[in-house]
Amino acid sequence: MRQFILKLHSRCDLSCDYCYVYEMADQSWKMQPRRMSTGVIATTAQRIAEHALAHRMPSVHLILHGGEPLLAGSDHIAHAVRTVREALGPAIRLDVSLQTNAMRLDETHLELFDELGVRVGVSLDGDEEGHDRHRRRPDGRGSHATVAAALDLLAGRYPHLYGGLLCTVDVRNDPIATYKALLESQPPRIDFLLPHGNWTEPPPGLPADGGETPYADWLIAIFDLWYAAPKRETEIRLFADIIRLLIGGTSSSEAVGLGPARMVVIEADGAVQQSDTLKSAYPGAPETGFHVFRDSFDAVLRHPAVIARQLGRDSLARACQECPIVSVCGGGLYAHRYGEGGHFAHPSVYCNDLFRLITYIRGEVERDVVALLEGRR
Ligand code: SF4
Repeated sequence: MRQFILKLHSRCDLSCDYCYVYEMADQSWKMQPRRMSTGVIATTAQRIAEHALAHRMPSVHLILHGGEPLLAGSDHIAHAVRTVREALGPAIRLDVSLQTNAMRLDETHLELFDELGVRVGVSLDGDEEGHDRHRRRPDGRGSHATVAAALDLLAGRYPHLYGGLLCTVDVRNDPIATYKALLESQPPRIDFLLPHGNWTEPPPGLPADGGETPYADWLIAIFDLWYAAPKRETEIRLFADIIRLLIGGTSSSEAVGLGPARMVVIEADGAVQQSDTLKSAYPGAPETGFHVFRDSFDAVLRHPAVIARQLGRDSLARACQECPIVSVCGGGLYAHRYGEGGHFAHPSVYCNDLFRLITYIRGEVERDVVALLEGRR
């Protein structure tokens, strides 16, 4: 395990209608304490240190998450970071990032994050119309203006803390307008997320007959602009990962590629879970039955579902194993494979879109490599 996701606070101050934590199959958030206790933080820190030392890891990545982690309060956030750093000691580097909706992100938070070395990722879905289509307050008002103001502060005064933007794709939004709106916030990186869904609960706008590829078409419009830009405007993680995989490298995320899952979630009550995107599949899908008070992270590594996610191609559906682009696609995000029979041994529900997107990018990259080899570039 390399990434430890700490669910510091289990509630949120937005009511986004596509949220996989509150609006999809698993409703276990209702049973969680609002805030992670200092006891869970202390034990988690010891477990992380124990794991890092046992595996001689030079560094560990801690991700402060929720719900909305800023609801935990500045003192609690600082306590969590300092406790984990102290447990690891000076020999193991701790990289910390925080993923926020930015509704409460202000100068006071950013001064603290500067002191603690916490990088900040923000969720933004594009321009006001696209963002406020889903990302609304509990009373129905939009959140775009507040988030944009926080991003001005982050990008303007604390660019060294700016991790990037998370944008959930809605194919009803214009892709070019969305991309340009995201660029206005000067992100060093953009992560486009496909809305969560599976073969039982298909994502919005995905035709049942599989004849069209709306998500690939949407992303390709942005890829063309990004790839043709005379100067790199930002990193787009999905495109960069696909290109890296095409030329024999590895992926930085679980969205594509055959790399092992290296991430574990610690819920607010101390339960150890797999990726919380699995909450979109069925109630209890991310659960492992382990708890930081009882179990080490080495024990979690021996859980059958965790082992299955270290097996690469062997754990995939037959159709994926025989697919010509499997080493790049990897069957897509694990949560998107869930379907008939109540298991994950299916191709991604986005199979057609992934195939179209990856083969399109492969065509563009191949064309450029050939031109380079022939000295035309
Ligand atoms: S494109 Fe489809 S069949 Fe090929 S690896 Fe991806 S999900 Fe599997």
